[in-house]
Amino acid sequence: DWNEHMSDALYDLTLVVPCYNEADNIPLFYKTATECFEQADVSIEIVLVNDGSQDGTAQLLRRVVESARGKHAVQAIDFSRNFGKESALYAGMQAARGNNICLIDADLQQTPEDALRMYKLLADKPEYDIVAACQVERKESIVLKLFKHSFYKTFNGICTDIEIPANVSDFRVFRHTVADALLSLPEGQRFSKGLFAWVGFKTLEVPYEPDARANGESKWSVKSLFHYAANGILGFTTWPLKVAVWIGLVASLGGFVYLLWIFEYALRGTDVPGFPTLACLILLFGGLQLTVLGVIGEYLSRSYIEGKHRPLYIAKEHLTNEESGEGER
Ligand code: UDP
Ligand code: MG
Repeated sequence: DWNEHMSDALYDLTLVVPCYNEADNIPLFYKTATECFEQADVSIEIVLVNDGSQDGTAQLLRRVVESARGKHAVQAIDFSRNFGKESALYAGMQAARGNNICLIDADLQQTPEDALRMYKLLADKPEYDIVAACQVERKESIVLKLFKHSFYKTFNGICTDIEIPANVSDFRVFRHTVADALLSLPEGQRFSKGLFAWVGFKTLEVPYEPDARANGESKWSVKSLFHYAANGILGFTTWPLKVAVWIGLVASLGGFVYLLWIFEYALRGTDVPGFPTLACLILLFGGLQLTVLGVIGEYLSRSYIEGKHRPLYIAKEHLTNEESGEGER
């Protein structure tokens, strides 16, 4: 029975839930999740990570941990500031003690029922290590759709050693071995779609339709999506650096051909009217050089930040509701 599962500190499944200003959603999420898995007789642990919320999520999590004592295994990790969803997922996976792990949002766009279904699929299919939910149709603007489509096209086109399937979300259930593999990647600038592709393992994709957010607004803006996409490409391929070499080679070749073309004029020393051409060329190549320098700068700044070896997050508090106090920091 449920309480017996509780005593051996190992669970069938750990739900890792990143929470950023989700105070309005957490109680409902908690209720739905615990009821759903209890009915199915799957022992779960819930790891709620407060990613520096400003809306009282921290206090709420403390209450949830307290009230779940003796009933459900709940951990709450309270970040000292907002470190981003990727860091929250990392902290949650580190704390997870289930045989399987599910990454699920707090806003109920991804339902615990679907998580249960995915868990069962994984349990039934030992040949797979990951079950990933794949968004069939998302109600979003055509611009956003186009942007996402071109991102996957670009990424998979230039990053040939791994492939990110389009529309696969972070909503996944996977075995603990996969979590260990992900945790063993030390990089601070994390792009989990890419990391999942990089660690490999056999992935089963299941279609799902995200529900509307229960409460509040999505934290994604166009700007943050753009940063996210750039981060993904810069983090997984150095291909843009090579573009510089090709542009340089083509430009030099063009210059050489042009030189042959104007050689006669150069010898005779005639005034050659050609300021527009010159001005255009200077602007064009000046711009290209700055762009390429910028790209190099992006990589340099990344290795600079990475070289500091800063932790992925700072936790103020790590609460568990077990008597042993294991995991307390
Ligand atoms: N989230 C987080 N830190 C952030 C932004 C988001 O932990 O800086 C969490 C958020 O609370 C939610 C999940 O990540 O549980 C997904 O965020 P959101 O719903 O805003 O994204 P969307 O569903 O629109 O992709
Ligand atoms: Mg959401």
